[in-house]
Amino acid sequence: MASAPGEHRVVVVGAGVGGLVAALQLARRGLSVTLLEAADAPGGKMRQPWVDGAPIDSGPTVFTMRWIFEQIYASAGARLQDELDLTPLPVLARHAWQPGEQLDLFADPALSRDAIARFAGPVEANRFTQFCRQTRAVYDALEGPFIRSQAPSLFSMHNDLGLRGLAVLASLGPMRSLWGALGRHFHDPRLHQLFARYATYCGSSPWQAPATLMLVTQVELDGVWSVRGGMHALAQSLAGLAQRHGVTLRYGARVQQIEVSGTRATGVVLANGERIAADSVVFNGDRSALGEGLLGEAARPAASAVPASQRSLSALTWSVHAATEGFALERHNVFFQPHYQREFDDIFGHGRLPATPTVYVCAQDRGTTASPPARDRLLVLVNAPAAARRHLTESEIDACESHTFSLLQRHGLTLTRTAQNTLRTTPADFQRMFPGSAGALYGMATHGWMSAFHRPGAASPIAGLYLAGGSVHPGPGVPMAAMSGQLAAATLMAHLDSTSRSHRVRISGGTSMRSAMTASMD
Ligand SMILES: Cc1cc2nc3c(=O)[nH]c(=O)nc-3n(C[C@H](O)[C@H](O)[C@H](O)COP(=O)(O)OP(=O)(O)OC[C@H]3O[C@@H](n4cnc5c(N)ncnc54)[C@H](O)[C@@H]3O)c2cc1C
Repeated sequence: MASAPGEHRVVVVGAGVGGLVAALQLARRGLSVTLLEAADAPGGKMRQPWVDGAPIDSGPTVFTMRWIFEQIYASAGARLQDELDLTPLPVLARHAWQPGEQLDLFADPALSRDAIARFAGPVEANRFTQFCRQTRAVYDALEGPFIRSQAPSLFSMHNDLGLRGLAVLASLGPMRSLWGALGRHFHDPRLHQLFARYATYCGSSPWQAPATLMLVTQVELDGVWSVRGGMHALAQSLAGLAQRHGVTLRYGARVQQIEVSGTRATGVVLANGERIAADSVVFNGDRSALGEGLLGEAARPAASAVPASQRSLSALTWSVHAATEGFALERHNVFFQPHYQREFDDIFGHGRLPATPTVYVCAQDRGTTASPPARDRLLVLVNAPAAARRHLTESEIDACESHTFSLLQRHGLTLTRTAQNTLRTTPADFQRMFPGSAGALYGMATHGWMSAFHRPGAASPIAGLYLAGGSVHPGPGVPMAAMSGQLAAATLMAHLDSTSRSHRVRISGGTSMRSAMTASMD
């Protein structure tokens, strides 16, 4: 039976950003929260291994939607700017096609427009301006009804969008793919390719992602920040804030089983056999882990496993600490190849590594200082199929590595990699680190216009068991997963409030989740 907030014991499983935010929000509402993390540090995918004497962000590198974190810190009585050192990046990203053929996008849209005019002509620059108008409208239409909503459905969206929002989606052609919609804006194939790439931020193919995913572009156009100490510093900061609010944080604590008694979650059992009783459990691992029975048979009904064909992108990454020369790196760099569609046919059609990968390079000491470092800390990333699709052989991975670094070399970028200064991470490694994910880094791919409605919300079918993280609503990405943590905490609090109210006055009744969420963040 649920108890009053002060006595209510919550176990949060996983210290990814979703779990950290859920734990923080529940602790500051007076609940007794224990956060159990299998790894030896917080952050989950926001990990920062040491490579040849230097910490290298080897997960997310692009910090966006600062306002979400401002709200989270403010709700916990802190100020984001006091806790983290954030610097806005004037250059959002440098894009390269053939050697010498480059386009930078800037935080200042007028500079981006000028750069596009020089790169592709004034007509294309006008199209960029029109495109920005549309991405702004799409983002504004969807932020409330979708991103902030507890569990949006077609019905709730229809109501919440209002006539104006519906008109925005209708003008977009919501059934159209992102690739199709972009083709109506850009005639230059390089710009078409550049803006289509934002589908991969949700682990999806531009050819299968709905046009509404344009909103991801707006998120980046609204600003990108660098975090001193890397994205991992955000995880450390959230963990510290959670502890200040009373969260008990335990690392090296792998949960093997979520206990269910009758229809209610009642605690967890760790891999070492220790049992921790709880009135509620928040699960921040991949939701497929539940559906696959990795947390025990009793917890299996909490969420379905994502079928292999619907898994999002994985990645093959190299964290490198080496001197570089021959190419003026910005902080975020993208090296494109022709035949873009082939990359996604390889990955989603054939379940193999792309023969002509787009290569992303994050140079973690660039963009905020004038002089380049003696040795760069790099994350080099190419998209890859989730491990669920097919086992990748060592020789396939070696071939992809060779294509990747040859492309960089063709652009003049040389770096000497050794076994000591390079850490390679494969889809199988991601699968090991994030059980149930099959290496897919973004949960379910956003393919088809209905897919966004197929992500589970925070409330699971098992009473007292809640879900948070990139594999549940509102989806992947650090800010979205943080938002899912807020939603999980709000849902739990709303259930607790309505239960204690029903105990007090013997009525049961619905609680508006949206207003409950707002209330719980106050
Ligand atoms: C290479 C890469 C690049 C990315 N780039 C970006 C980017 O630039 N910008 C962006 O916004 N997003 C990016 N993402 C996505 C983003 O990192 C994720 O969507 C987000 O961090 C997921 O957070 P989460 O809350 O789902 O938790 P996760 O990061 O998935 O962490 C879950 C945690 O739960 C723990 N756990 C799981 N099961 C158990 C258990 N049984 N017991 C105890 N602990 C358990 C795990 O150890 C892990 O620490 C990237 C991801 C990767 C991997």
